[in-house]
Amino acid sequence: MSRVVVLGGGVSGHTAAAFARRWLGRDHSVTVVSPRPEYNWVPSNIWVGVGLMKPQRVTFPLAPVYDRAGIEFVLAAARELHPDGDLDTGTPYVLAEAADGTTSKVPYDFLINATGPALRFDKTEGLGPDGGHSESVCTPGHAVQAAAALDEEVERMRRGERRKFLVGVGHGTCTCEGAAFEYIVNLEFELRRRGVRDRAEITWITNEYELGDFGMAGMHLRHKGYVTPSSTFNASLFAERGIDWITRAHVHRVEPGRILYETLDGSTDEQPFDFAMLLPPFTGVGLKAIGRDGTDITDRLFMPNGFMRVDADYTQKPYAEWKADDWPRTYQSPEYANVFAAGIAFAPPHAISVPRTSPNGTVIAPAPPRTGMPSATIGKTVARSVVDMIGGASEPHHTASMADMGAACVASAGANPFTGTAASMIVYPIVPDYERFPEYGRDPDRTFGEIGLAGHWIKIILHHLFLYKARLRPGWQHIPE
Ligand SMILES: Cc1cc2nc3c(=O)[nH]c(=O)nc-3n(C[C@H](O)[C@H](O)[C@H](O)COP(=O)(O)OP(=O)(O)OC[C@H]3O[C@@H](n4cnc5c(N)ncnc54)[C@H](O)[C@@H]3O)c2cc1C
Repeated sequence: MSRVVVLGGGVSGHTAAAFARRWLGRDHSVTVVSPRPEYNWVPSNIWVGVGLMKPQRVTFPLAPVYDRAGIEFVLAAARELHPDGDLDTGTPYVLAEAADGTTSKVPYDFLINATGPALRFDKTEGLGPDGGHSESVCTPGHAVQAAAALDEEVERMRRGERRKFLVGVGHGTCTCEGAAFEYIVNLEFELRRRGVRDRAEITWITNEYELGDFGMAGMHLRHKGYVTPSSTFNASLFAERGIDWITRAHVHRVEPGRILYETLDGSTDEQPFDFAMLLPPFTGVGLKAIGRDGTDITDRLFMPNGFMRVDADYTQKPYAEWKADDWPRTYQSPEYANVFAAGIAFAPPHAISVPRTSPNGTVIAPAPPRTGMPSATIGKTVARSVVDMIGGASEPHHTASMADMGAACVASAGANPFTGTAASMIVYPIVPDYERFPEYGRDPDRTFGEIGLAGHWIKIILHHLFLYKARLRPGWQHIPE
C-alpha cells in the first residue's frame, strides 16, 4: 500500500487529490492536509468583492466531498516536512498543526505540496484589511469586507459626495495583476450600474512597466487580423471606462486615506483614496524541512521566497539569457524523488517580465503568475506521474511545462447577462519561447484577445462548471482544467 499526501485543498491540490484517488486502487490511500474546511473557487471572489455573489456561492465544505470520494482529510496546516523520517522509523512524514495548536504526524510515500501562496500584507506597512487600511479579495472573507466597504462608498455618493477609488497591487514585487485588473473593471461597471459612476474617480496602480504586462512580459493579441500589444488593449479598456493609471509603482505605505509610493525613476509620491483594493505580494507558506537528525534542511528543498525547488534550471543568469526550457516539466523535487510541488507552491526559475530596480534599489517588477488553469493542469499531471510511480515507474513521465502550455484568461468586466462584458485573452505558451516564436515569444495564431458579452457568459459558465467539477459530481473528470 502507498500513501499519497497532498498539502493544500485549493485549485491545484484538490485537482491532484481527486485524480490520484480516481486512478489509484483502493489499497492505496490519498490524504489531503489543509487548514481550511472549505474549497474556494478563488477567481469568483472578484464577484463577492463587488457584492454580486455571496461567499457561499464560491465555497463548499470539503469533508463531505472527500468522504464520498474516499479521500482522507486532515484539517490542519502543514508546518514541517520530514522527508527522511525520524531516527525511530525512517518513514517520511509531514508535521501538521490543527487550529487548536495540536500537532500530528502524517506519514507519506509520495508528497504533493500544493499549499499555494502566503498573502504577505506585512511586506507593506498598513496594507490589507486585517489591521491595515486597504481591502483585498484574496479570500472570501476579505471579499465580503470589500463589498461592505464598497456599499458604504456608494451610499455616500448617493448622498452627493465624490469618492476616490484606488485598485491594483500593494507592493513592487506583486503578482496576480490580472485579478486586480478584473476587480477594477468590475468595480467600474458596478458603480455605473448603481448610478453613481459620475461621482467616482477610479485609479489603477500597478508595478507593471506597461499596462497589460500581467507578469508575463505582456502579450501580442491577434484580433480580426490585427496584432495589438496588451498595453494598448488595456489602455483602451481603461480609457473607455474613464479609469486613470499609475504604472511602475511600489506602494511602501498605506495610511488611512492615502498611499505613499515610489516609481521606477526613484521619485516618490502619494495618492489619496476613500476606498483602496490592493493585492498583497505572495511568498511560499513557510514550510520547513527537517533532516533525520533534526537539522534544518529547508534551503535544500525551498528557495528563500518559500516556494519549492523542482526540476527547473535555477542557475542565476542575466534576464536575456534565460530560456523557455529553464521552466520545470515534472515538478519533482531534485532532492527527493517522492516529493513534488504543484500550482503556486513551486518556485519559478526566473521572472518572465523584465526585472527592474529603482535608483533607490527598490525592485519594481511583477513576479510570474501561476493562474488557475496551469495550477490545475500541473496538479493533474503530477498526480498522473505519482500514480505511475506507485505502479512501478522509476521516474515521472508526465510533463506540464508552462513554456509548453496555453492559458485562457477570461477577465470579467461587468457581471450582467445582457449588458455585461469580459476581456478574453488566450495565450500560447504562457512562458514566452523566443526560439520557437522569435517575433513575440508566443504563437500568433494561438494568442488572441477579444472584449464582449460572450466572454461574460463564458465566465459564468466556467464558474458553474469548475465548481461542479470541484464537487466531484458525476462526470467531473471529463471537464477540462
Ligand atoms: C482574487 C483572485 C482572483 C483570481 N482570478 C483568477 C482568474 O480569473 N483566472 C485564473 O486562472 N486564476 C485566477 N486567480 C489565480 C488562481 O486563484 C490561482 O492560480 C490558484 O488558486 C492557484 O492554485 P493553488 O492550488 O496553487 O493555490 P490555492 O488555490 O490558493 O490553494 C492553496 C491551498 O493550500 C492551503 N494551504 C495554505 N497553507 C497551507 C499549509 N501550511 N498546509 C496545508 N495547506 C495549506 C490553502 O488553504 C488552500 O487550500 C485569481 C487569484 C486571486 C487571488
